[in-house]
Amino acid sequence: MDEPLRTDVAVVGAGAAGLYAALVAADQGARVALVSRSPLAQTASYWAQGGIAAALGGDDSPAQHAEDTLAAGRAAARGSAVRVLCEESPARVRDLQKLGVQFDADRDGNLALGLEGGHSQRRIVHAGGAATGRRITRALSALAATHERIQVLEPLAATRIASHDGRAAELTLRPRDGDPLALSARALILATGGTAALWQRTTNPRGAVGSGLSLASDAGAMLADLEFMQFHPTALRLDGPRDGFLVTEAVRGEGALLFDYQGERFVDELAPRDEVALAIHTELERTGEPAVWLDMRGVDAERFPNIAAALAEVGLDPTRDLLPVAPAAHYTMGGIATDLDGRSSLSGLYAVGECGCTGLHGANRLASNSLAECLVFARRAALSAIAEPAVGGAALSPEPAAPTPPGQSTRAALWRHAGLRRDATGLRALLDDPYPLARLIGAACLARDESRGAHQRIDDPDTDRSLDLMHTLVGQDVAPRFERWQ
Ligand SMILES: Cc1cc2nc3c(=O)[nH]c(=O)nc-3n(C[C@H](O)[C@H](O)[C@H](O)COP(=O)(O)OP(=O)(O)OC[C@H]3O[C@@H](n4cnc5c(N)ncnc54)[C@H](O)[C@@H]3O)c2cc1C
Repeated sequence: MDEPLRTDVAVVGAGAAGLYAALVAADQGARVALVSRSPLAQTASYWAQGGIAAALGGDDSPAQHAEDTLAAGRAAARGSAVRVLCEESPARVRDLQKLGVQFDADRDGNLALGLEGGHSQRRIVHAGGAATGRRITRALSALAATHERIQVLEPLAATRIASHDGRAAELTLRPRDGDPLALSARALILATGGTAALWQRTTNPRGAVGSGLSLASDAGAMLADLEFMQFHPTALRLDGPRDGFLVTEAVRGEGALLFDYQGERFVDELAPRDEVALAIHTELERTGEPAVWLDMRGVDAERFPNIAAALAEVGLDPTRDLLPVAPAAHYTMGGIATDLDGRSSLSGLYAVGECGCTGLHGANRLASNSLAECLVFARRAALSAIAEPAVGGAALSPEPAAPTPPGQSTRAALWRHAGLRRDATGLRALLDDPYPLARLIGAACLARDESRGAHQRIDDPDTDRSLDLMHTLVGQDVAPRFERWQ
């Protein structure tokens, strides 16, 4: 490889977390390289529908938001991370407004605050109804593209992190065709998104296979809470295009109902995600049907134009038709283990957004906390990253071949063995999977020998109170262990 490109901060991933981290670092005077492997429209951030959770209402407070977040996390959420998120997300929403994002307003011109499952208050801000992610990422991406201190490098995939003196110092970047190049920086911020597309049925873009987690663990960083995969209850269940398309729970907040195949309601539609998803899964197992029905005929469909448009593509009209829905892998609560400033266990390496794990979500993410997390922790990480010391050159070993992407058999195995209900026999099969990250997920699931939130063990269904506040940690060649995070 030629001499590396040099910059102050290298950010990998251009979804909400990466874009915002890059902008914050650059606004502080740092030179930033922003690396992305796929177009904006293929990020989870662009697809986000529901909105951003922030205690902005007159009757609301960060303390109430924190209480709801802790309740959803099932005694596994890290209190300090929850407090940071809930206290700082209102300011980050205001920041986005200053950057030009227009959130939906009520008749009086105040922010219109929506209600979602698990929230005790109306506190979800939207932009363009269910087009929140699209509006935010378009605005941030336009700013990044024209920022004088941000160099956008795309389409390039980061395929390796090299260290120097125990610090992450350099990235290998691969174009689709051609030779790899090296990028060295005083700090590397991974913002590569989640792992849900490792599961066969998913709401996520195909690229959400946890490549940042693989990069980090290969470089020696620890991963946390991998057993906690959130399954979204209401993803379209169709044969063909749009299977897995997510129908936001905001429609249930506005009154949409769920019915079994006999037309009976069977669950509180506003219960936290894990409860609703498990209730649907149980219903599907009981009846052998592929889907339950979501009825949004009583909801003003004009408030959700992108949902109506996606449904129209497959001949469904939400004002007339019941929608077939079933759970799908949706959100990675775990990720690269970090402190409250996004620092991983490897010096110089940060992780933010869905690829990071501060412990904020515990065993179950509260709806709309993840875009808030992207903004809050991206900013904190960017401010810490710019203070990192300059690095020497990385000791580069010969560049290995490009990593092999996960195959269909891995996706099927994770769906079967690490789906909504798991047992030790199935999980042990994952330990032999050819995809290394699937093996680590299997190891974390096996270590947590209890049921909690999104992790339901049918062979040991009770919650083990001695594991309250405990997080699983796994690493390449490191046996899984538990740690208590304050
Ligand atoms: C359908 C859907 C709806 C959602 N709705 C909401 C919602 O309403 N509210 C909410 O809070 N959350 C929502 N979420 C979750 C939320 O959107 C995500 O958690 C969040 O957007 C993740 O942002 P991110 O920046 O971490 O990752 P992403 O937005 O996924 O971006 C990842 C980036 O990393 C790049 N990348 C990955 N690997 C590499 C590599 N090796 N090299 C270079 N680049 C790489 C990708 O190209 C991409 O640019 C939703 C998710 C989905 C899928």
